[in-house]
Amino acid sequence: MTEKNKPSESLSSGNAQKGNQSSLRLSTLTQAQLKTLIVQAKVQCKGGELPTYIPLLAKADPSWIAVQVQRIQGEKIAVGDIGCSFPLMSVIKPFVLLFLLEKLGSEAVFYRVGREASDQPFNSLAQLQADRGKPRNPMINSGAIALAGRLPGKDGASCCETLRQWLNQRSHSQLVLDEAMLQSVRSLPNERNHAIANLLAASGYLDHPEIALDTYNHVCCLSGTVRDLASLGMLLVQGSNMISPQHRCTVNDILITCGLYQASSRFAVEVGLPTKSGVSGAMVSVVPSQGAIACYSPALDEMGNSLAGLFIVQQLAQGLELSGLG
Ligand code: GLN
Repeated sequence: MTEKNKPSESLSSGNAQKGNQSSLRLSTLTQAQLKTLIVQAKVQCKGGELPTYIPLLAKADPSWIAVQVQRIQGEKIAVGDIGCSFPLMSVIKPFVLLFLLEKLGSEAVFYRVGREASDQPFNSLAQLQADRGKPRNPMINSGAIALAGRLPGKDGASCCETLRQWLNQRSHSQLVLDEAMLQSVRSLPNERNHAIANLLAASGYLDHPEIALDTYNHVCCLSGTVRDLASLGMLLVQGSNMISPQHRCTVNDILITCGLYQASSRFAVEVGLPTKSGVSGAMVSVVPSQGAIACYSPALDEMGNSLAGLFIVQQLAQGLELSGLG
């Protein structure tokens, strides 16, 4: 374990002990501890890149960090640049999967997409070619584009609106479509995503590649704050009677092995929380039976995961012994 990855003293000293009594260790976290963690993240997570293939994402301030923790027991805590609104990008993928599991059922969904981990980048065409056109999982672009093609509606805008309303109603979040971000996504050709959609269509996993891609671009531009993201995350935490427990578990299981692209297996071992990241710097983690952690910090590592987001969740998971696997 490197110095950087050691759990912060301020977390590991008192909370885990309290946690052994209550077994709801996220509930022991205080606002002051979360503030300290943000200060540490600012020191530890220097460097990092902003994505340039979506020009508006490159305009974010890499020093922004916001975190919201929502618990089943205990109040919400939010610290940092919590007024920042950001597009969810790939963080929408587990919620597209959840929606379709609820609407179509597991068999119809997994006819179109696998649930195996991939060690390739999120936009890999080679992975899809190697798998003869069947997307490996719903958390990489091929799988998410295939599933976007199953959202009900006549075009990208209406399919996205159906999902937006469903999510806002069930999670009490206030997601909005960021039209400027959508324009920015469209302003540069994304040849990789086009090639993925065309291969999916050629292999029979997609009926209307142009609509599916447009829907995918729309849903990636659903935007909100860490407050909205934490509320969304709560849909994946036990206790929501809005979602079938079986579908919730399916999404969490897939997140453990696929949520952070090539970093998924390392994170599963070190942290053990279902987590999804996006190129905007958004990240959401599920703490089963306890709550959700939403982070936003736009500086990314080379795999496209938020540097500060990874650091903060890792510190919380280790300091508060959040992983149910230990
Ligand atoms: N819209 C982005 C893309 O397709 C989302 C990717 C991501 O967040 N990893 O490239």
